[in-house]
Amino acid sequence: MDTLLRTHNKLELLHPLHGFAEKYNFFTSSKLQNHDYRFRDKRSRRNWCVNGSVKASSSALLDLVPETRRENLEFELPMYDPSKGRTVDLAVVGGGPAGLAVAQQVSEAGLSVCLIDPYPKLIWPNNYGVWVDEFEAMDLLDCLDTTWSGAVVFIDDQSKKYLNRPYGRVNRKQLKSKMMQKCISNGVKFHQAKVIKVIHEESKSLLICNDGVTVQATVVLDATGFSRCLVQYDKPYNPGYQVAYGILAEVEEHPFDVDKMLFMDWRDSHLNSKQELKEKNSKIPTFLYAMPFSSNRIFLEETSLVARPGVSMEDIQERMVLRLKHLGINVKSIEEDERCVIPMGGPLPVLPQRIVGIGGTAGMVHPSTGYMVARTLAAAPIVAKSIVQYLGSQQGFSGNELSAGVWKDLWPIERRRQREFFCFGMDILLKLDLQGTRRFFDAFFDLEPHYWHGFLSSRLFFPEVIFFGLSLFAHASNASRIEIMSKGTVPLVKMINNLIGDGE
Ligand SMILES: Cc1cc2nc3c(=O)[nH]c(=O)nc-3n(C[C@H](O)[C@H](O)[C@H](O)COP(=O)(O)OP(=O)(O)OC[C@H]3O[C@@H](n4cnc5c(N)ncnc54)[C@H](O)[C@@H]3O)c2cc1C
Repeated sequence: MDTLLRTHNKLELLHPLHGFAEKYNFFTSSKLQNHDYRFRDKRSRRNWCVNGSVKASSSALLDLVPETRRENLEFELPMYDPSKGRTVDLAVVGGGPAGLAVAQQVSEAGLSVCLIDPYPKLIWPNNYGVWVDEFEAMDLLDCLDTTWSGAVVFIDDQSKKYLNRPYGRVNRKQLKSKMMQKCISNGVKFHQAKVIKVIHEESKSLLICNDGVTVQATVVLDATGFSRCLVQYDKPYNPGYQVAYGILAEVEEHPFDVDKMLFMDWRDSHLNSKQELKEKNSKIPTFLYAMPFSSNRIFLEETSLVARPGVSMEDIQERMVLRLKHLGINVKSIEEDERCVIPMGGPLPVLPQRIVGIGGTAGMVHPSTGYMVARTLAAAPIVAKSIVQYLGSQQGFSGNELSAGVWKDLWPIERRRQREFFCFGMDILLKLDLQGTRRFFDAFFDLEPHYWHGFLSSRLFFPEVIFFGLSLFAHASNASRIEIMSKGTVPLVKMINNLIGDGE
């Protein structure tokens, strides 16, 4: 990961316990705030716009990235008053989608909640994409700003698949505003700081913040994303990494249908003139993901689905520049860029433990895809209901008993088994080269929609995942079957061992 970490020029914190760098990926939403883009080097910009030629180096592309500015929501936040020394029912650490969703729902039940985040008003930086049916099921269609009637997958230059499943881009400003408004009207108090330590007593916990304030709470929820700040892990942390570089850009033109989003483009002809890069890509492939908003405004993201160690950001950017050039995409300006590093798979945190978790910190990212927003938002009511139920119970649960109950509701055995299967999927993907990956997705998207939808949206449970696996095998080419058998045996044995070892 060394190179990968070095290439990130954004705020980056090396976690003291786990050694994993958490990315605070502050997008520049400058379009909304200020039309006067400030480029780091205007001459490089000319390389792109005036000459119309694109240097086969990522520096020209990066020169178009506007300087980081953060956009805040315009809310007057009710702040937590430490002088009262009051113990709140729930302290939520982290105001991402996961934390805010639980804060909203626990406060709705009349419990007192304090949400702690160093940037509580900041609009989330990530460009979230979801399947429309996932948001529809949660009555969140108003929080999508663009939808596409379906998606496209290029397996290679000859083969293209249409996915008849609408896809959407989350309107993160709208989603966060909606949740914040509800939190505020339910009486949630906010504290702007970073939690650095938690001390547990029998019936409450003390959250020590970096501004010297201590927040007292009966239950603590760690929703700090991939930094895994507070929850404990007792097994070696060895995830795969999804790494991607994305730009929201104004372009002269692009070759994509604006009614379809581009889910995966595995073509590699853009690397024909760069043998070394082509070989690298054939071993650890990257694909293009794109959301075309109009004929000249598009989100483009070069993505390594999963690799261990992660592909370096420089490699990703270099491949992206060559791909865009090959596709005839001339970038005129960049509104936002995102550098994405998502740890996938790896062990779950210690179950149970005193601090409760949700989202990235609680192992909820899909181990084979890196998706999580829809899954987390759907899990938030389960966690919230559990917290409310245990806190409202007359049985007088201790702090540890209460947390154990909540963890059990978040990670029941059927979810843990499902995750094991998805980790098995990730272990196979880690071993596939470009040809193998193409064969895999060729068979995957030929499955009955129930199976591939269910797999991508974490809706398949045992024994259905087994039918999914068998069905995938049946759809696979002979070469792919041999590959799955040879490369999948060790992960299969690992999965079976883990399943046997994980009793109720
Ligand atoms: C660039 C990128 C793009 C992604 N795109 C998608 C996508 O398209 N679709 C999808 O489903 N998933 C996507 N994901 C994966 C995942 O859904 C996101 O990472 C999502 O933001 C995770 O939500 P979260 O609430 O768990 O954590 P986060 O959104 O990371 O929020 C964590 C919050 O905790 C705060 N925090 C951290 N440490 C502390 C501390 N010590 N004290 C107090 N607060 C703290 C942070 O400031 C932050 O506000 C993406 C991830 C990345 C990185």
